[in-house]
This record gives sequence, C-alpha cells and structure tokens, in this order.
Amino acid sequence: MTEMEKLKEKLLEISHLSAAAALLSWDQETFMPKGSAGFRAATLSTLSGLIHSRVTALELVELIQRLTEAKAAGSLTEEEGHIVREIKRDVDRATKLPVEFVKEFSEATSLSIEVWQNARAKSNFSLFEPSLQKIVDLNKRYAEYMGYEDSPYNALLDGYEPNMTVAQLDEVFLDLKNFLVPFLAEVVATKTFTPEQKILGDFSEEGQKKFCEAIVERMGYDLATGRTDVSTHPFTIGMHPRDVRITTRYDLANIFPAVFAAIHEAGHAIYEQGLLEKHYGTPLGESVSHGLHESQSRLWENIVGRGRPFWEYFYPGLQEIFPKPFKELPLPDFLGAVNSVGPSLIRVEADEVSYNLHIILRYEIEKGLMDGGLEVKDLPEIWRAKTKEYLGLEVEKDSDGVLQDVHWAHGSFGYFPTYTLGNIWSAQIYAAAKELNPGLEEDYKKGEFGRLKGWLNREIHAHGRAYSASEIIKRATGQEASATAYKDYLRTKYLA
Ligand code: ZN
Repeated sequence: MTEMEKLKEKLLEISHLSAAAALLSWDQETFMPKGSAGFRAATLSTLSGLIHSRVTALELVELIQRLTEAKAAGSLTEEEGHIVREIKRDVDRATKLPVEFVKEFSEATSLSIEVWQNARAKSNFSLFEPSLQKIVDLNKRYAEYMGYEDSPYNALLDGYEPNMTVAQLDEVFLDLKNFLVPFLAEVVATKTFTPEQKILGDFSEEGQKKFCEAIVERMGYDLATGRTDVSTHPFTIGMHPRDVRITTRYDLANIFPAVFAAIHEAGHAIYEQGLLEKHYGTPLGESVSHGLHESQSRLWENIVGRGRPFWEYFYPGLQEIFPKPFKELPLPDFLGAVNSVGPSLIRVEADEVSYNLHIILRYEIEKGLMDGGLEVKDLPEIWRAKTKEYLGLEVEKDSDGVLQDVHWAHGSFGYFPTYTLGNIWSAQIYAAAKELNPGLEEDYKKGEFGRLKGWLNREIHAHGRAYSASEIIKRATGQEASATAYKDYLRTKYLA
C-alpha cells in the first residue's frame, strides 16, 4: 500500500465517523424525542472527541508530513497534491487548539444560548452582556491560537471562508454599502415592489409539502438519495453525495416561507449531491467554503426561484393545489409579492436588496470587537445608530436589534460575511451560466433545469476543494470574483 493509499484509508474512516455524527445531528433537529437531548449531546460529544483524536493522531500528522515532502519533490499527481495541501490545512488547524480550550469554548457557548434566549425574550441586553463578553474573549484567544496576519478577525474568517481577508472584505463591503443605501431608497420610491405584500390563506401542510417536493425534484435534487423533513430552522446536511437531506418549515397561513426555504436548501443539496463519489473521504469530495455554498442556494432561491420564467412553469400547479387565493391572482401580482423590497429590522425576513446591509452592519461590529475598536457594552447603541444610517429605521427594542441572531451566542464570529459573499457570487456565477448556455431561461418555462444544474455540477461542484472559492469562480466565469455582476443584476431587476 502506498502512502497516498494509506492516507485515503484513514480519511475514509474519519469521513464515515463524521457521517454518523451528521446523521445524529439531523435526527436531533427532526425526529428525536424531546427528552433525549442530554443523551444525544453525550453521544455527539463522544463522537466528535473520537474524530478529533483521529484527525490529530501523530501517525496521520507524520504521514501528511512525508506526503508534503513528496509533493514538494514533485512525486505526487496534481490531484494528490490538492488532497495533501487541504488535509494539511485541516490537521494544522485542528492541532493548534488545546483540548481544554475546545472544551471551554463549547461549554461557554452551550450555556450562552440559553442566556441569549432569555435575554431576547425579555429584550434586555444587559442579561446577555456578560456571556457575550466571554464569547468575544474566547474568540480573541481562538485567533491567537490560530495565528493571523494584520487582524485577528482574519483568523475567524478563515474558519468559514478560507483565504478571505479583512482587507478584501473591507473593499467589497464598502463599495456595496455605498451602492445599496441609495439603491434601496430608489427602489422603494418606485413603489413597484412594495414591501410586505403578504398573500395569506389556508395552506395545508400536505399541499405545501407536495408542491415543494415537486419544485425541488424538478430543480434536480434527487429524492432517491435525499429527503425533505421539518425543522424549526431549515437546513441541509450531506452525509455523502448519495445521502443529502433538507428540511423546511410550514406556516399554514403563508406558503412562501416553506417554498423559498425548500428552493434555498435544495440549492445547497444540489451542491452536496454534485460532489464526486469517487473522491468521498478526501477534501476533493467536500464543498470549499460557506460563501460558495451560499452562492448556490441564493442562485436558485433568488435569481431563478423568484424569476418570471420559473413561475410561468410552476404557477399553474400552485393555483391548482391552492385555488384560494391564487386562482384570482394574476402572475405579475404574484411576482410583485415574492420580490417585494423594503427596509426591515429583522435579518431573516429581509428582502434580497436590504439583506446585505444587515450583514455589513454585523461585519463592522464583529471586526470592531475583535480589533478592540468597539466594546460589548456599547453594542445596543451602535446597532441603533447603524440601523438608522443604513436602513433608515429606529430600533425600539433590542430583541429587534442586537439580540435578534443566535450566531454570537453560538460562538460564531466571522460567519455572517459569507451570506453576502454568497449573494454577490450567485449573480456572477449565474451571469456566466446564462452567457454560456444560450436560451437557458426558456428551459425554465418548460420546467427544465437540467442545463443549469449540469453546468453548476461541472463548473462549481465537481471541483470539491481542489481550488479556492475565488479560483473556482474565476475558472467558471472567466473573471475575478467581484460585486459587479451583482450590482448589475439588482439594477436590471428592480429599476429597468
Ligand atoms: Zn443557506
């Protein structure tokens, strides 16, 4: 057995352990009895300890060291070189954190989620402040363990978006903010896409499920190796390209949360199903970054799934399942409702234009906390000021402001920016798909999405982690990753 074969064997074993842990997490969010949470936490913690010890085992570290030397000597194939580079990155990262720190971090965050829930329910930031201070301090220590150049925030970003830096984000986000603040006001002033045109009705769960499954199946999400279930927060989880599951949630008075969550998650699932089975176990069989993953879900959800060609095909089916209220509602009015734009306080309810301002606000705060320019105690005021400046809204209660998201309680700093990177990249990738596949949107009117899915599979998904996210985008689109196509997309859609 060659060293490379030995490496792949070890990695395959780790991937199977991770798949078992992922399946247990999926079950935790979907079917697990409520009273089983304690036992499940213990099982998951045992498994993650086992996985961590495999990843940091001296034997593996030494094997990677020898293979890194072989790579430098030019005796590996290009593909093997990618595997060794990426697995070295993973192992280096895992070995930098002392086990006691990992435990402390995990305990602090699991305690803090309850504290945050209580503080949010009471809309009282001071209840959450000590926990948040602790989490900020832990993230600062995390950055010190991981090491960084320029800003400690770079170490945090690297965990979600490898190779992305504060310097790059500052440039992209400042440009986007300067574009979006006046753009949002301009779109609202046209009154074409009025905010919150809610279409309410009486939508049975059974009917919603049937409709959502018809959509995701047409998109190309393979339900023979996937399934759709219900959870509080929709998510996608991939154990293997042949076992990728999504969840959605049903609001019986409003069908849109379920439909757009299903399209969004199916976009993630199509990425996971598009990873190549032959690379399973190695980094070449894994998705490359949170931002690129989000570009896939946003591409389907917002660009394709809120577009006219898509609904020319699906709207008659919706009218048939739910004649009330859709039989009487012409398609253009329906499209106006699903594309409504207007500033709002809550990120998860925001439209695709104002959404990014919510993210930029959080990015600026996270970076300030890490660099020491901002202090935790001042966050409610900073939040109010930025909301006023970017969205033109007053925050009346902290539960609608600084306390609205779970991410910080969860310990996740550096995650938010990947949402906006996903939005930006979705437009750039989609523009290339359209240009290289003439008449692509004519397909949608016939319910055909195979050309789009096939192109994404080949150009984005099949690479795994062979290249960085920005390199994959550059190869697929022929351009450096940038926000140009995204701004064009918004201008054309909302002002043309
Ligand atoms: Zn997503």
